[in-house]
Amino acid sequence: MISNFIALKKNLNTFEGRVDFVTYMSSFALVGLHILYMCFYVYEGIYLMMFLDLIGIIIYNHYLHNGIKNPNYYSIVCFAIITVHTIAAILSIGWNSGFYLWFIGIDCAFYLPSFSEESNVPIKRTFLYGLIFAFLYFLLGAILTAGLVKPLYTISNVAEGILFIVNSVVVFIVISSFTYFFTKKQKYKELKLKQQADYDTLTNIKNRNAINREIDERVSKNSEFSLAILDIDLFKNVNDTYGHNAGDLVLRELALKLKELEGYGITPARWGGEEFIILSPTDMSKKQFIDIMQDFRRKVRESKFKYERSIIKITISIGISYKTKKNTIKKVIETADKYLYIAKDTGRNRVVYK
Ligand code: GH3
Ligand code: MG
Ligand code: MG
Repeated sequence: MISNFIALKKNLNTFEGRVDFVTYMSSFALVGLHILYMCFYVYEGIYLMMFLDLIGIIIYNHYLHNGIKNPNYYSIVCFAIITVHTIAAILSIGWNSGFYLWFIGIDCAFYLPSFSEESNVPIKRTFLYGLIFAFLYFLLGAILTAGLVKPLYTISNVAEGILFIVNSVVVFIVISSFTYFFTKKQKYKELKLKQQADYDTLTNIKNRNAINREIDERVSKNSEFSLAILDIDLFKNVNDTYGHNAGDLVLRELALKLKELEGYGITPARWGGEEFIILSPTDMSKKQFIDIMQDFRRKVRESKFKYERSIIKITISIGISYKTKKNTIKKVIETADKYLYIAKDTGRNRVVYK
């Protein structure tokens, strides 16, 4: 049990890890709750319910010791235990002790499998289960409150009141937890999608859309900054000599090196193909940016890219221009492009700027 707990606690930094941890902890809570109910039933001499609680404790205890290997299966077991317990409790001690609230809790719990990434339970089926339970709720409510069926045991008003409070509080916690997790999961998914939409799949640095958004933001603030366009020299030769996969590896490794420039506040992105765009931070001087780009060019020239048994060497050309308060971003990009092609025309492996 302790080792399960420790193993799950290690993964709390991922969303899935947190769901696993909370699912596991729910077994603790359910054992505690069943013990609480069992004490009550022993006190009141309601042995049928005491027996059902004991079964619940044994099953949840099994999960605490062995861990939850299949969350979908676990959730079915939980539904079964809670449903049987709820119906038996309503028939044993009546409607007013608030066990009917568990039907609402179960309705929310039907969505439990949808928290797991692998689950493919159709949402329509979940909704149908909810309707079945709503029907059961009304049916039991109608026959008990109309007196068509008499509860097996009679308990005092005080006992009934205590049970009502316990059931209300626990069901509120269940509903709040499910709502909390559902919202958290949506937010987490949104964040993941947003990251995927903003990052280039091959190189894992920002893509053209993301950098365009950043440029627009800077332009709207009338910021001043340097902009570089970088192109790998004779990259076609890399593909032709070592293959497309080797070319991809070079692009990925070059992007990793570009990412290191983020330490200066510089923002690199993949502009397309083997071209990258690089923005200086707004408080960096032109000279400092040019020096960093020159160093970067030298660093790339000296780097060895290892692909299988081959060592690939590349050079890069860079064109730099500046966004001032007066010029347009279109002109800035055109100028950087123009300088890049001057760099290509004048022998490659150079940084051109004015
Ligand atoms: P230059 O020095 O004039 O830039 O020569 P170059 O060979 O780099 O220029 P060119 O534009 O002729 O070729 C660019 C090559 O980049 C062609 C294309 O196959 C390759 N390329 C573009 N995107 C990718 C990619 O995602 N992966 C790989 N492996 N190659 C790519
Ligand atoms: Mg090129
Ligand atoms: Mg190119």
